[in-house]
Amino acid sequence: MSPLAKISLANLPTPLLRYEALDALVGTRVWVKRDDMSAGPEAGNKIRKLEYLLADALARKARTVITCGGVQSNHARATTLLARRLGLQPVLLLRTSDGQAPAEPWQGNLLLDALAGAEIRFITPAQYRDRDALMSTLAAERSARGEPAYVVPEGGSNGLGALGYIDAMGEVRSQLDQGLAEAPERFDAVVHACGSGGTAAGVVLGAARFDVAQEAIAMAVCDDSRYFEERIAGIVNEANGLLASTSPRVPLRVLDHGKGPAYGVPTDEQLAFIAAVARCSGLILDPVYTGKALHALSVLPEKPATVLFLHTGGLPGVLAEAERFRVR
Ligand SMILES: *Cc1c(COP(=O)(O)O)cnc(C)c1O
Repeated sequence: MSPLAKISLANLPTPLLRYEALDALVGTRVWVKRDDMSAGPEAGNKIRKLEYLLADALARKARTVITCGGVQSNHARATTLLARRLGLQPVLLLRTSDGQAPAEPWQGNLLLDALAGAEIRFITPAQYRDRDALMSTLAAERSARGEPAYVVPEGGSNGLGALGYIDAMGEVRSQLDQGLAEAPERFDAVVHACGSGGTAAGVVLGAARFDVAQEAIAMAVCDDSRYFEERIAGIVNEANGLLASTSPRVPLRVLDHGKGPAYGVPTDEQLAFIAAVARCSGLILDPVYTGKALHALSVLPEKPATVLFLHTGGLPGVLAEAERFRVR
């Protein structure tokens, strides 16, 4: 199997919809690519990356898949459920503030990880900084026991995973060609939340290759613009290496004004925005990624006139935040 082979896991194409009711809230014309509908409980942006990454795992005859993330990681949940679909054993390194298991009952993504029987190890933020080394040591141990293990990096964000978002932009191109949702021939900008950089890397390559948008705007939800500019450039180079060509890319702006107090912690204004979006459109954004990203667009002083917003998922994370959402 070529390293660029993928397996079909997602329900594609995801809908491309116009949300007129959002225009007033966001302050520009908004279309939404519903990648939150890319599957059932495995839905979100990670499944597009995992179509490549898990194909690679199978090609390498892995029996175990190891990945990592925050305790409410959407990526860890998607990897767990898809690994199970393929008959692989999921192993997760999940970060908590003290490296201890959270108090039960478990909710949201963690509930689903546990329901599917993922082997879960909780680690501290300090250990999480060494996640790549931790995961490769664990993989070597498993492989030595005759249980070949495949490591999926944080967020599925490497060159191979990013190919999933090149494909996503191709999917948008054919939807535009079909004249769906009265969308423009091409958007001024594709806007999305950025947490580990793989989506952004695929989008800048795919939006250029398929002439989907003039620029990409990645809204950082952690770290800062400089960190992600470097990280995304690295992933783009890796993807180009796999494609054996240097592909054109659209200009990328990484903005970090909307990341809020900390990763996973929204401001009251961001929470109120999420509620306002739900009330005017029925769209559920999450407080870690998509809610911060669309809110960040809404407060930009100068906005692109036509925007394709990637709804990258995150619903289970909302359901774990009952404490925060006291929205009545
Ligand atoms: C992971 C995730 C993102 C960020 O994508 P990256 O490729 O990691 O930058 C955005 N939205 C949701 C809901 C996610 O789970």
